[in-house]
Amino acid sequence: MTRAFTGKVALVIGGTRGIGAAISRQLAADGAAVAMIHRSRSGEADALLAELQATGADALTIAADVGDPVALNDAIDTVIARFGRLDILINNAGLAITGPLADYPPDAFDRVFAVNVRAPFLAAQKAAGVMTQGGRIITIGSIVADRMPGAGGTLYAASKAALAGMTRGLARDLGDRGITANLVQPGPIDTERNPADGPNAEANRSPLAIRRHGSAEEVAVLVAYLASGSAGFVTGAVYNIDGGWSA
Ligand code: NDP
Repeated sequence: MTRAFTGKVALVIGGTRGIGAAISRQLAADGAAVAMIHRSRSGEADALLAELQATGADALTIAADVGDPVALNDAIDTVIARFGRLDILINNAGLAITGPLADYPPDAFDRVFAVNVRAPFLAAQKAAGVMTQGGRIITIGSIVADRMPGAGGTLYAASKAALAGMTRGLARDLGDRGITANLVQPGPIDTERNPADGPNAEANRSPLAIRRHGSAEEVAVLVAYLASGSAGFVTGAVYNIDGGWSA
């Protein structure tokens, strides 16, 4: 049976836990070969790799801190060497350093922007160099780029807001090659970093029209649509999946 992504190669940066793991599972289920970059939690990465391979998927995990441009570049080289092509790039890894404005450590800005902005830019630049017609670049931002729920998130919000401009630029840079770039901005999603039963959960849900946490799988379905051939006329777009926070 031919599935939506049969013959396609996807790279999911931050693809082994949370939202990224759901995206990896969805793309693999739809027939893609999936490479996943994670930072350090190799036990979970190996477990997901085994899970995907057990379904017959061609998959690979690479440990690399994408805040380090050399490590990121080497990891993408490994993916291209292994699979020979790259069709779908998912920029999902993110870093949140939050707290009172006066208390940010001196290197907080550089660390957050290295993972949340520089890595997606460098990955997109490199991936675009090997993508062909139909290539897809999808970045996971956050609804806090548009709506701040309270104090303490200045740096994280600033970094996620930069992704909309990047995405529009990529859309213009790559449109004539038939490569699309889109941004997905989730609201609260039930993952380890934002559990639906955690201490901040009720506060996180209070601004929503649909007052529950979203699931990683709901985000993955939207990402899979944007990665598909059906979404070839969608580029430079920002998709909020936020339970109506923006309504
Ligand atoms: P995480 O941000 O914790 O993502 C976990 C995955 O990213 C793991 O595979 C992890 O590897 C990898 N990762 C994290 N940092 C790096 C790094 N520096 N280099 C390489 N890999 C890295 O979990 P979520 O699923 O919650 O979030 C995913 C994305 O969604 C983030 O960009 C986040 O900002 C965004 N988001 C999340 C929301 C939520 O409510 N959960 C809401 C809005 C946006 P390892 O397992 O080895 O640590």
